[in-house]
Amino acid sequence: MTSINKITFRDDGSPYSEKFNDIYFDTESGYQQSEHVFIKGNNIAENLIRGAKEFTIAETGFGTGLNFLLTLRLYKKLAQSHQLPVLHFISTEKYPLTKKQLVKSLASLNALTDEKDELIACYPDSPVYLSELQGELQPRQKAECLFFDNKIKLTIFFDDSTAALNAIKLPRKQQGLVDAWYLDGFSPARNPEMWQDALFAEMARLSKPQATVSTFTIAGFIRRGLEQVGFRLEKKQYLGNKNEILTGKYQQNKLQGKGYQLRPQITKPQHVSIIGGGIASACAAYLLTKNGIKVTLYCKDIKVAQGASSNAIGALFPLIHQQQDDISLFYQKAFSVALNFYNELDAQEYHFSHNWCGLLEISYKTSLEKRQQAFDKIQAWPSELVTSMDKLQASQQAQIPLEHGGLFFPQSGWIAPQELVEQLLKAAAHTNRLRIETSTQVSSISQQDDDSWRLKTNKGEFNASVLVFCGGADGIKINTIDDLPLSSVRGQITSMKTNKHLGKLNTVICHKGYLTPEHKGIHCIGATFDKNSFDTVPRDEDDLYNLTMLEKCLPELSANISSWQLSDIVTRKARLRCMTPDHLPMVGAMPNIKEHIANYQHLAKDKNWRFYQPAPQIKNLYLLTGLGARGLCTAPLLAQILTADLTGAPYPIDSDMLFNLSPNRFVIRDIIKRKYS
Ligand code: SAM
Repeated sequence: MTSINKITFRDDGSPYSEKFNDIYFDTESGYQQSEHVFIKGNNIAENLIRGAKEFTIAETGFGTGLNFLLTLRLYKKLAQSHQLPVLHFISTEKYPLTKKQLVKSLASLNALTDEKDELIACYPDSPVYLSELQGELQPRQKAECLFFDNKIKLTIFFDDSTAALNAIKLPRKQQGLVDAWYLDGFSPARNPEMWQDALFAEMARLSKPQATVSTFTIAGFIRRGLEQVGFRLEKKQYLGNKNEILTGKYQQNKLQGKGYQLRPQITKPQHVSIIGGGIASACAAYLLTKNGIKVTLYCKDIKVAQGASSNAIGALFPLIHQQQDDISLFYQKAFSVALNFYNELDAQEYHFSHNWCGLLEISYKTSLEKRQQAFDKIQAWPSELVTSMDKLQASQQAQIPLEHGGLFFPQSGWIAPQELVEQLLKAAAHTNRLRIETSTQVSSISQQDDDSWRLKTNKGEFNASVLVFCGGADGIKINTIDDLPLSSVRGQITSMKTNKHLGKLNTVICHKGYLTPEHKGIHCIGATFDKNSFDTVPRDEDDLYNLTMLEKCLPELSANISSWQLSDIVTRKARLRCMTPDHLPMVGAMPNIKEHIANYQHLAKDKNWRFYQPAPQIKNLYLLTGLGARGLCTAPLLAQILTADLTGAPYPIDSDMLFNLSPNRFVIRDIIKRKYS
């Protein structure tokens, strides 16, 4: 096969490869296509501003350099407002254009004039794929160019992609090099030679953990080839039309011997049964149905959202500590996912009452003032997420006089959870993939010979090929699920009629409990915290506790609170929250605890023991539970993780965070603590 690249130009100026019988890009839409497939498909903008020191993009098929030019333009734009990493763009090209051909090919790209001139200036006159010259062994030719004050380095290897990547050596301890892959090259049908397993293996070798990939082809063998080496993939709509692209992340591959962190890979199920009728179930049903999976939802109550999601108003805010520790990073991520998720739902005309009016955590005692000072000093979080306020600023924000400042979360606010759950399920039902069985309480589950599940309920027995438990504290009373360390905490919330003064409140207030701004004439005041209680009958003393706590923490509101009569209580509700021992929720497959203890016993002697034996799971049983009082914040992210578990899509978080949410983390920690030795 010759390496000479014969290029012709079409009437509209688009370059055309005679060899591959295809255009390099379409002058009309190629520009947007490349931008959409590679730049957006790899989330380059978001990933560049994440704060790393270096970022490496690798591409197969440099061609005219359009993808590079678009990346260069984006970098320049982002650099105006952000500190960016040094960018290394590595590309490969087996059939290089001459400089003349390059100039002509780029002539129509007027929007990239500055960038293309810079590229043309450094591009070699006649690059050749040297390894084919006369059968003689020649050094490979490459071009290296620097851009933007040396902050961007372009290296083009004029060689076959697999061979060029294979020649890149990694220092022994370095975990990968590439952050993002632009998998270009003509389509697999026209260029089968490039799309080989050997290429995917090189990509895996060179990928950093969480490296992204995108390509314009969704061919099954490419998907399988990439999955085989550790990429998780999903199809995405492209430019709003019916075409799809493939994007993914390099995840969960071998995990350096920590097999217990490995999540099971299953074939995407056609049908999933969910136990539970609250925010966790609703988010899961919404995302699963959207991803083409049929869902049957079993809700024990006469209507959905009668448990912890039945409160009139719930606050949406992240749990943030001074430092960026594991817990804070999880809640920060969950919060940002939740905001986007709810805004998207609302934008699709599934409206629910909410107000992103901000939330003030009042520093009402000395220890909290000190904590606020630590936040100020460490500055671990961006001010869009949390900012410190003195009492004047806090009063101004709240629109009522306050005696203390506090931490303010400007993007936070409140939601009516019941309406939210109803709207999520309405949206899921519009896919025609959701069935809801209300007044159906699951009392026990049993696994059948074919690994499916049989559910025993008050309405008879039902089959479930894949079962997801989202039923909160009810899990404590269902066999198998009761093997996990879940506990129940009763919380009572009191809703009071608004009054002239408190009606002005303009933000959610958190003290030891919380107070919400007026909505439909009421304020919600919460909440009590009774460990290991299953009692949901409201108690007078709990209302009194809520009001007293509010008055104690915010004595400046005393006059308004003490004027409340018992008759001003509009509703009171006690509900159960499901907790885990480490205050993080659980999402993922149900672990086979006995087999964990058998397989990983050596961890009791050496907690750093590396053993690549994938975590044993109980087949077809998944959990999304332990959300405590923070379901509004965490349910969307957890539902995304569950959906990734069931569809093979990329996880939205990295492997460490994934393990922190994994239901098997407790048994692994117990083994390390020698509980079973
Ligand atoms: N990104 C390109 C651009 O903006 O012009 C589009 C590239 S074109 C669709 C595909 C490119 O892949 C061509 O330049 C082709 O020569 C190159 N190519 C094909 N097979 C290759 C291989 N095995 N190794 C490296 N490059 C290859």
